[in-house]
Formats: sequence, structure tokens, C-alpha cells
Amino acid sequence: MSKIDEKLQPVLDEVLRRNAGEAEFHQAVHEVLESLGRVVAKHPDYANHALIERICEPERQIIFRVPWVDDAGQVQINRGFRVQFNSALGPYKGGIRFHPSVNLGIIKFLGFEQIFKNALTGMPIGGGKGGSDFNPRGRSDGEIMRFCQAFMTELQRHLGEYTDVPAGDIGVGGREIGYMFGQYKRLTNRYEAGVLTGKGLVYGGSRARTEATGFGLVYFVQQMLATKGAALDGKRVVVSGSGNVAIYAIDKVRQFGGKVLACSDSNGYVLDEAGIDLDLLREVKEIRRERLSDYVRMKGATAHYIEGGSIWDVPCDVALPCATQNELTGKDATTLIKNGVQLVGEGANMPSTPDAVDLFHQNGVMFAPGKAANAGGVATSALEMQQNASRDSWTFEKTEDRLAQIMRGIHDNCAATADEYSAPGNYVLGANIAGFARVAEAMQSLGVI
Ligand code: NAP
Repeated sequence: MSKIDEKLQPVLDEVLRRNAGEAEFHQAVHEVLESLGRVVAKHPDYANHALIERICEPERQIIFRVPWVDDAGQVQINRGFRVQFNSALGPYKGGIRFHPSVNLGIIKFLGFEQIFKNALTGMPIGGGKGGSDFNPRGRSDGEIMRFCQAFMTELQRHLGEYTDVPAGDIGVGGREIGYMFGQYKRLTNRYEAGVLTGKGLVYGGSRARTEATGFGLVYFVQQMLATKGAALDGKRVVVSGSGNVAIYAIDKVRQFGGKVLACSDSNGYVLDEAGIDLDLLREVKEIRRERLSDYVRMKGATAHYIEGGSIWDVPCDVALPCATQNELTGKDATTLIKNGVQLVGEGANMPSTPDAVDLFHQNGVMFAPGKAANAGGVATSALEMQQNASRDSWTFEKTEDRLAQIMRGIHDNCAATADEYSAPGNYVLGANIAGFARVAEAMQSLGVI
């Protein structure tokens, strides 16, 4: 990581002191403050009234007990979190993650990133994030339902379509959102469709929301390639993960003529020389809810499962990390660069470690940071809120067109901001500064609150 501007170093020092041990949160704040040095030099007023210090401190942090009963009749206890980080632009908005690794620091890093991501979309949404250390793997449908109901029993006090609007994230898809919405409706006696996004189509969901993060990522990548007169057509692509973001990134890459050679889960990766078979992948992951190794068992000859291997060892032109934070290290970046990678686009949140990002920049690899490139999911959530508010339901084509338009807008804004700050092609800087500027302007207008 490079040095922080001397005016901002005390801000970082205070974040580190006040949030001891929260490594991922430190990493996310460091990256943003690193970019803001140039902004403060140009607009010293942004440093007034402790504005940057306030952005780094969540407006509210909620931690709660989630007791529930498993299939064996045993009482289980998990911990629930909701960090309502910044509401200068609109109600808090950000997903809910169910994964055993969840802790306050992880939710804070995700909530912090969400502020700038949501600002970049141009939509009226603030930043927040939530989750639990609940592990859904191996749990029955009944257990998932009881857990979601217990989680929402507490969380519902803090939500509302004008207050805080969660969505899905790792471990939380359409099924979990349905159970949480059902419990919210039961407890509040309100059919408040705009309180959650990622809902099923029959009860207020938006078409193209399921696809939006992966599709949006690939639209962003296509825009970046276009600035160099290139395109995805004919490119070899590797996509980590095999969940919601990965599956629809694979789908869109194929639509643009690229060939996806590999995808992964937390146990290993699948290499399929014939190109990943999307129908089979969806069958294994979305319908059967099985492990990725089953893809190979069902596919046969062309596919191989490399248990414990790193997907970044597979030579490719475009790499799309779509699994989780810090999954792509400096060592992986070195391998990708050696193998000739041209572009890395983050579908996950903060999947590349800081040394990996530095290596991409130093070696002329185009790099799309998650807070810009994966913003299509939350942008389409905002379109879902818009449809709910107007009691309307748009076609897939209309929604996807809006998504594509929003991704183009984010791309152009990041690129133009990087140019303005004399760092052409640096989308990290462009995204951080453009996102920050919108939030900062709103916070200045609203006074010290
Ligand atoms: P998901 O459907 O639950 O899929 C997650 C995928 O990542 C699974 O294949 C999972 O494998 C893998 N994974 C999770 N933890 C891992 C770990 N520690 N090491 C290796 N692989 C791991 O989640 P998702 O919605 O696709 O989210 C993926 C990423 O995108 C996350 O960073 C999320 O914050 C980000 N994101 C999601 C959205 C959205 O709309 N869903 C929007 C913006 C950003 P296993 O099954 O083995 O755990």
C-alpha cells in the first residue's frame, strides 16, 4: 500500500485505534484515504467539519443475538449485525451475508465500501451492510427458514422503506429474502414491498435483479476494453466463485462471445476446456444446491476438478474474481501477469489484496475495482424500490437497458475522474473520488449530523 497524505494520516490513525483488530475495515478505509489525498489538495473544504472522520464512523451499529431451533430440537445461537453506515444520499442500502467468517469488522468494511458504490450509481441510496456468522451449508430448508425468521425478528425494528433496505449477499439469495420478507410482513402487519430487495417476482421483485451484479460487471468490463478498441469476443475468461455473481457473469461473458474456462468454490476449481456449461452449472448450484465437484461428475471428459488448487493458475485474458474478499493475492497477481492477463474485473467486494492491485497497475493490467464494477446489483435493487414505490413491474428488457445505461455512466464517471486527477486509466482512484465527492457534497449540505 502506498503512503497516505499527511493531512489524512491522523484520520487513518484514529480509525485504526478506534476499530482495533478489524483488519478488513482498516484495509478498505486505507484504500479510500489513499485516493483522497489529491481531493483534499484540490478542495480543502472537504476536510472541514471533520467530514472525512464522520464518513469513517458508522451512523449506527447494531449487534444482536439470534436464537433458533435446529432439526434435532437443539437451540442454536448466532450473532446478527447491521451497520447503518451513511444515510446522506438516501435510506441505508446494502446486502445481508450469512457466512461463518462474518464479524463486525467484515460487515463494517462492506458497509463502508457500499457508501461509495451506492453514490456511484447516481441513485438515492445510502450505505449499510448486515449479516450473521450463521453457516447455511448443510442446513435443511426448515432450518434456513427458522434462522431467517429469528434473524428478522430483531432486525425488523431497524428497517423500513425510508430507513434501511437490505438485500442478499453471500449465503443469502431469493429463498432467504423470501423467508425474511415473510417474517417482516407478519411482525409489522404491513405489505411494505420496498423494505427488502432481491425479492421473488411474484411478490414485488424486479426482473433482472438476480442477474444484475454479474451482468453489470461484464458491461463494465466491456466498456473498459472498448476504450482500448478491444472486446470480450474470443477472450479466455476465468471467473472465481460459483454463486450468484459468478453464474451471471459467466452468462454475460458468453453472450459477448468470450469463453469461460474455469470457476470455483471454497474447495477448489473446475477447469472445462470446452467452456463452462452454464445450464449444468445452474442445475448443480441453483437447483440441486450441490458442490462444484458434482459438475465434473456430471459433465465427464472435458472437465476437471482441481481440489485445493488456485483458479488464478489458469492462463486467461480476463480474470473476474467473484467469490470473496482477499481471494486474489500478490502471488496470484504475479502468476496472472506472467500468463498474460489483460484485465481484472472485481465482481466480489475487495477480492484483490492491496499488493495485487499495485502489481496490476504497475504492469499495465486494466483493473476494475468492485465498488464500481459490481454496483449493478445495488443499482438494480434501487430500480426494484422504484418499481415498488410506483406499484409497477417493468419488463426484463427495460430493466436490463437501465442497468447497462447505469454501468456505462459509472464507467465514464470513473474514467473521467481519473483523468481529471491526472491518473488516466486508474479506476480505483476514479471510483473512490467520484463516489466520495457525491457523498461529501450531500453531507456538507446537511450540516453536522
Ligand atoms: P453466493 O451466491 O453465496 O456465492 C459465493 C461464492 O463464493 C460461492 O461459490 C462460494 O463457495 C464462494 N466463496 C465464499 N466464501 C469463500 C471463501 N472464503 N473462499 C473461496 N470461495 C468462497 O454469493 P454472491 O452473492 O455471489 O457474492 C459473491 C461476492 O460478490 C461477495 O463478495 C459479495 O459481497 C459480492 N457482491 C454480491 C452482490 C449480489 O448482488 N449478490 C452484489 C455486489 C457484490 P462455497 O459455496 O464453497 O462457499
